[in-house]
Amino acid sequence: MLEFKKTVKYAKILNPLKNFEEDTVVFEYRTDPITGRNTTVINGMLNYISKFLVSEKELLGAFAEKTRINCPFCPENVKTKTPLFTPDFLKEGRIFVGDATVIPNLLGHAEKSVLVILTKEHYLQLKDFKTETLLNGFKGALTYLKRLKEKEPIVKFPVFIFNYLPPAGSSIFHPHMQVLARDRPFYLTQLLLEKSKAYFKKYGSNVWTELVSNEKTHGERYLYGKNGVEWLVPFAPLRGLNEAQAVVTGKSNFLEMEDGEWREIAEGTVKILKFYYEQGYTSFNMVLLSGPLDTHLDYFNVNLRIISRPGMQASSFTDAWALPYLLWDGEAVESPEQLAKKLRDHID
Ligand SMILES: [Zn+2]
Repeated sequence: MLEFKKTVKYAKILNPLKNFEEDTVVFEYRTDPITGRNTTVINGMLNYISKFLVSEKELLGAFAEKTRINCPFCPENVKTKTPLFTPDFLKEGRIFVGDATVIPNLLGHAEKSVLVILTKEHYLQLKDFKTETLLNGFKGALTYLKRLKEKEPIVKFPVFIFNYLPPAGSSIFHPHMQVLARDRPFYLTQLLLEKSKAYFKKYGSNVWTELVSNEKTHGERYLYGKNGVEWLVPFAPLRGLNEAQAVVTGKSNFLEMEDGEWREIAEGTVKILKFYYEQGYTSFNMVLLSGPLDTHLDYFNVNLRIISRPGMQASSFTDAWALPYLLWDGEAVESPEQLAKKLRDHID
């Protein structure tokens, strides 16, 4: 059944910070229970890189002001500076839900690349993201996906992604979400679909249900569950900087999900962003993965990952270093159990 394998390794050094006394560094190799990918947990690394994770306030403020000028997503420019959908796809050209605006991307990452401008505000601190703001964004994205399903049902693998602020890879400062859809899954979606299917074949059960059930029982990494959405910290994080995960019970694609589930995805995200803010962080990435839109899969669940990113600093420090980028290995800068405890204390 589902395994949570870890191996502990040690390195001994004579540490100059401790008067050259013998010191032991601990490395934990953890195998992701679904994908089998390795993540190394390095206790102490969070502390070591913490000075790079906060933003230089003046730099951040100056950048927010500079990018406000001529920002295409600010309300006065949206109608003149952002693309329209072609009339055969959507005769109104753009989709509006509350303050959210859905537009095609000028240059995207897939054959269907769509942007959801989330708010009229040019810059939000992480504590200022609201449940309604994200919920309206999700509703706008779903309106687009329903239209896409009617017009081009072959394009059935969507993801929602957030790159918030330049350290997270965003070229536009203004808060927005991306909807990417292809006729073929993105690599992580494909891997999770394949592994989930193989697990279902072998054991006759849904691996996501097993994962949540295990985490609820053991409790070390479990955060909370509400309205069919379960929040936890992954055993072997993908990137490991304050990474949390959500699993939507019994739903394998975005179009199966109901309002209550979307509201909880929005509400839970807002809670995690508030936690990031309180730690002094300003930037984050998030992905929501869906199975194919045209069918229900008993073996797969819609799931989410969110991570914080480094601060805005003149040093341009990045955590996109060679190990995860080119070696495809994961690295967690603190123990997932420790992070889960901090998050639980914050959320309660
Ligand atoms: Zn703007």
